[in-house]
Amino acid sequence: MHRILAGISFSVSTTMAAMFVASRFPGMEIPFPYWIFGFCTPLCISTPVCIIMNRQAEQKRRLNDKLRAALVELRQLAEVDQMTGLLNRATFLRRLQEEQDRQPGTCLLIDVDHFKAINDGYGHAMGDRVLKAIAGSLRATIRSDDLCGRLGGEEFAIYLRNMPSTQATAMAERVRQAIEMLDIAAADGTHIRPTISVGAAHADGSASAGPGASASADQLLQRADMAMYAAKANGRNQVRLAA
Ligand code: GH3
Ligand code: MG
Ligand code: MG
Repeated sequence: MHRILAGISFSVSTTMAAMFVASRFPGMEIPFPYWIFGFCTPLCISTPVCIIMNRQAEQKRRLNDKLRAALVELRQLAEVDQMTGLLNRATFLRRLQEEQDRQPGTCLLIDVDHFKAINDGYGHAMGDRVLKAIAGSLRATIRSDDLCGRLGGEEFAIYLRNMPSTQATAMAERVRQAIEMLDIAAADGTHIRPTISVGAAHADGSASAGPGASASADQLLQRADMAMYAAKANGRNQVRLAA
């Protein structure tokens, strides 16, 4: 409203000012009715124009807000795994490569043990609930700025930035214990107690290790994957550090 009033006042006052300046010149006296005309005309023209312009500006602002919200939602849909809210595979891999190039850290590859048996015994929907509970527990255990993603199925990955392997192994152990503590009640009154096998692989980071020393995110994941399979082969529900 104040913008409309400002527009109208500006229009009326500039017309009146122009008329006043003109009336100062010799022989240019303006009769009184023209002053009224000079006041009413810009008032009549600028009022609807200002109202329309103000409405258009409001519509534009609302559209911009909607567009911004849609972009945020679109980015969320493109980057986030819809079931767990963690990063999806493509985004995790991209962010992992960026992080790994910048600074050292440790990648944890996590696979839920005997997950097929949970699906077979309790149904796919219950399996999904277990995956969501695991994702929540992973997120709650690590630091808020660590990368955490769902690579697919019952496989997750974490990148612990700036964490040497000894400290990261202790963190992986905390993650494993946190999952072991989960107790998910099924409809039949039984309880699901999932466990995970974790493979950890350390990356030096290109900046600290010199040019060419940084491995690709794929290679890092591969090393973590091999360590995870060693954990599986060794009896599951444990952490293994890649050589
Ligand atoms: P292991 O301990 O060797 O990892 O055994 P596993 O049973 O966990 O591994 P396997 O690869 O045999 O089975 C994984 C199962 O995960 C099979 C697949 O149906 C299930 N799965 C994959 N994605 C989803 C999902 O989004 N939701 C649910 N509920 N199940 C899924
Ligand atoms: Mg698997
Ligand atoms: Mg599994």
